[in-house]
Amino acid sequence: SGAAILERQRGRESAARTYARSFPIVPARAQGMTIEDTDGRRYLDCLSGAGTLALGHNHPVVLEAIQRTVSSGAPLHVLDLATPEKDEFTDALFATLPGDFADKARIHFCGPAGTDAVEAALKLMQTATGRRGVLGFTGAYHGMTAGALAASGGVGTKTPVPGIAADVTRLPYPYSYRCPFGVGGEGGAQISADYVERLLDDPNGGVVPPAAMILEAVQGEGGAVPAPDAWLREMRRITAEREIPLIVDEVQTGVGRTGAFWAVEHSGIVPDAMVMSKAIGGSLPLAVIVYHEDYNGWLPGAHTGTFRGNTLAMATGTATLRYVSREGLVERAAAVGARMTERLTALRSELPVIGDVRGRGLMIGVELVDAEAEPDACGARPFAPQLAAQVRDACLERGLIVELGGRFDSTVRLLPPLIITDEQVEAVLDRLTDAIAAVTA
Ligand code: PMP
Repeated sequence: SGAAILERQRGRESAARTYARSFPIVPARAQGMTIEDTDGRRYLDCLSGAGTLALGHNHPVVLEAIQRTVSSGAPLHVLDLATPEKDEFTDALFATLPGDFADKARIHFCGPAGTDAVEAALKLMQTATGRRGVLGFTGAYHGMTAGALAASGGVGTKTPVPGIAADVTRLPYPYSYRCPFGVGGEGGAQISADYVERLLDDPNGGVVPPAAMILEAVQGEGGAVPAPDAWLREMRRITAEREIPLIVDEVQTGVGRTGAFWAVEHSGIVPDAMVMSKAIGGSLPLAVIVYHEDYNGWLPGAHTGTFRGNTLAMATGTATLRYVSREGLVERAAAVGARMTERLTALRSELPVIGDVRGRGLMIGVELVDAEAEPDACGARPFAPQLAAQVRDACLERGLIVELGGRFDSTVRLLPPLIITDEQVEAVLDRLTDAIAAVTA
């Protein structure tokens, strides 16, 4: 039974168990946005495998790609050899790249996880520039391996590794609700950009000469925090002028999630490298970096790894990329996301624990605060992590899976699949509203 499985795993797994702690359920079946557990209870899944499942669970085109590939006799594992599946995947991926990036792009298959691709991107740029430092941002999350974690900004328990972090200069991300310089919105973002520029140009600023700047256009684990487009254009200008390669981590924002195929498209910037994983594999593990050919400086064998060409993941990835484009799911994510954000924003007057509603497309954050406390200079009230945890649990009781994120785990994050129906949108909003109201009653 489900209870017995939960009990056994609790006794056998590492103390670092994470999602399994938040959601003590045993999924048995899943389809689209719905997960059914071993006891027959059904849940609407707004976590989507941490943003991986653009097409939801077990989408027919994904299952068809698996079945077709398996029955074709294609080798499932051939290191990083060229295969028809890899060829098709590269074509499908390059067709989605912003601007004229595809004309001068190179791809490196990393893998299998997002963190591997971040690690590869940093190392590639260190090789290409001969420099060692990394420019990262507060509230960023890039992965669990040493370099990727060091480049992250410290989100909840995801704390950077001390040694490597010495090479990282952490810069202020334009989080307009909790503005780092006491000025909200675009004004605060401009101060952040000026600060970055001055620090880089200050010979006594202590910045380790940077091999790269790495950022998320919308911070995911950091609490669905979008950077203003003007700020992103400033980062592009500042890095270009100083010949610092700009790496954009699109691991969570990619494949339509933010209402553009890639989140950089909103601002029109073209980075020097993009890190991609999660949804590009269409449910299976796949991670790549795509970078400008000017940085193609690795010697053969300089960056290898066993699991860098899983045939099934290429096939499910190709099916997903094509389906998202063909079915207009990018536009749908923009429209549905705007509707959800608007509805949630309107709730603030009724439920004052909702401090901020933000995001882009179907990457939405609802930051919960202590409504009794005095607001700061920008109007933000203190974080409410305990309340947020109660809301998450109350959502689960109501058949809704939502995870928390943000600097102190006080932001409810909504990452529904792009195929969410209008009916499911209503159910998600109703259950979330009801959960917040019940917890704060
Ligand atoms: N970058 C971003 C922006 C992410 O959101 C994540 C995962 N949440 C990662 C990197 C790391 O990916 P993975 O967990 O697959 O290593």
